[in-house]
Amino acid sequence: MVDEAFLKHMTTGYKITAGFLIALVVLLAGVSWYGYMRLTALSEQVAVLASTTTALQSNISEATTSLSNALNQDRHNLQIQLGGVREQVGSINGTVSGLQKLSKTDPQLLAKYSKVFFLSDNYAPARLVEIPTQYEYDEKKSLQVIPEVLPYLEKMLDQAKADGMSLYVQSAYRSFNTQEALKGKYSVTYGAGTANSFSADQGYSEHQLGTTVDLITTGTGGNLSGFDTKPAYDWVTANAYRYGFVLSYPEHNAYYIFEPWHWRFVGVKLATYLHDHNQYFYELDQRTIDTYLINLFD
Ligand SMILES: [Zn+2]
Repeated sequence: MVDEAFLKHMTTGYKITAGFLIALVVLLAGVSWYGYMRLTALSEQVAVLASTTTALQSNISEATTSLSNALNQDRHNLQIQLGGVREQVGSINGTVSGLQKLSKTDPQLLAKYSKVFFLSDNYAPARLVEIPTQYEYDEKKSLQVIPEVLPYLEKMLDQAKADGMSLYVQSAYRSFNTQEALKGKYSVTYGAGTANSFSADQGYSEHQLGTTVDLITTGTGGNLSGFDTKPAYDWVTANAYRYGFVLSYPEHNAYYIFEPWHWRFVGVKLATYLHDHNQYFYELDQRTIDTYLINLFD
């Protein structure tokens, strides 16, 4: 016989145990689901955070790059501006030194003397120096040029001598008064009262500058005429420009009689230009000639 009370007790115990187990399973499932859901949410948040961080980093990097580019651009612009300022200062300095040089150069030294424009009667060079006697045809004469021209004249005559030429200075600076006296003498040669005697004044003007010489060679009996038939004339025609001298009145010029002995200093740059272009001084207009004044003694 089974004790009924015991059976009842057993059944009840079984029921309690089964109920407890089911509750436990449900609880565990709930906890797991909750855990899983939390974990998923957290992962999502982490992912969002990570992508936000990446975006921020990329933004920072972009901002840094653009800031750096902007700074570089500014620096570059500043350098360009500074360069421009430096250039301007440089060119102002150049202009100032050029103007100073120009202000010290007598504009008469490259002026054209024509039938309508003569050098002032009162004009005299600021300074004159004696040409050493070794370069003079007549050593007893006192011949002068301006000091800036003398080294060019000496070099030319030294080279002529080295090349076997006899080339000497017969006349150089002449004051207005000396020229007046000469004019009377020359008017006989050129014909008083003719166009030539009138235009002769422009040739005299060039001697009054102290930059012009009459050259002579041996074998002409001390005369200037006939110079163009001698080797010394060919030499000086081929080489004078290297020393800044030009023939003022070449053969067939439109301004004056042919004076093969009469050489005027116009500076190496202008003389070279005239030589290279087969032109003569009086062919150029004064405005063109003036651009060479700054380089007269270079
Ligand atoms: Zn002369």
